[in-house]
Amino acid sequence: MTPILAALVVLMYHRVAPDVPKNPVGLQLTVAPASFSAQLDLISRERLRVYTADDAAQRIARGEHLDGVVLTFDDGRIDGYDVIFPMLERRGMHATFYVNSSTIDGPFHMTWRDLRALRAAGNEIGCHGHEHVDLSTLDEAQQRYQIEHCLDRVQQHAGARPRTYAYASGRYDATTRALIRRDGFEAAVTEIPGEVSPGVDPTQWPRRRVDRDTTLEQFAALVEPARSNHH
Ligand SMILES: [Zn+2]
Repeated sequence: MTPILAALVVLMYHRVAPDVPKNPVGLQLTVAPASFSAQLDLISRERLRVYTADDAAQRIARGEHLDGVVLTFDDGRIDGYDVIFPMLERRGMHATFYVNSSTIDGPFHMTWRDLRALRAAGNEIGCHGHEHVDLSTLDEAQQRYQIEHCLDRVQQHAGARPRTYAYASGRYDATTRALIRRDGFEAAVTEIPGEVSPGVDPTQWPRRRVDRDTTLEQFAALVEPARSNHH
């Protein structure tokens, strides 16, 4: 039997919170804390390696073949600090938080102080654009503004230059990818389903979506490629 080469599975979350939003999109993006807890416990039990996107990208650039998971949380909502952070801390796990620099310190979103605390604990703060806009609808100057304003503000207020990027709504074009490379990002994540394996374009990392309806059984199947063949 040919061994299947294990791969890196990048998981995409938005919110983890006890509330039940009324609008269907918000509801779908809000994972119940009990479900999230069971998912993290499964990762621990299966002894899957957990990387930040930044750490994974640096290792891949050095030629390492990685297996494991990356936990990513888009949009910088307040539960990133209030709910997700303590649940990760309890298990010694680190994650990547993709934020829009225009909404930090605003209603329902984390503050710069929260982001500094996340970072000090070993988490990564990545860019999701200055505003939450579809970059593929913008010209080059507007795209530059969205990417570089986020880069500059996060660097200035969170204390480290962001090294990875998440395209808002998963949308981008060739201009976006050229800017991402030029601005020195090590990786950019999409919403294309799949795993990160050797040879994947660093400006187009696939991600697997986890939402409210994801059962533990489905979650186990999502992270299955992250299982190393060594155990
Ligand atoms: Zn988003």
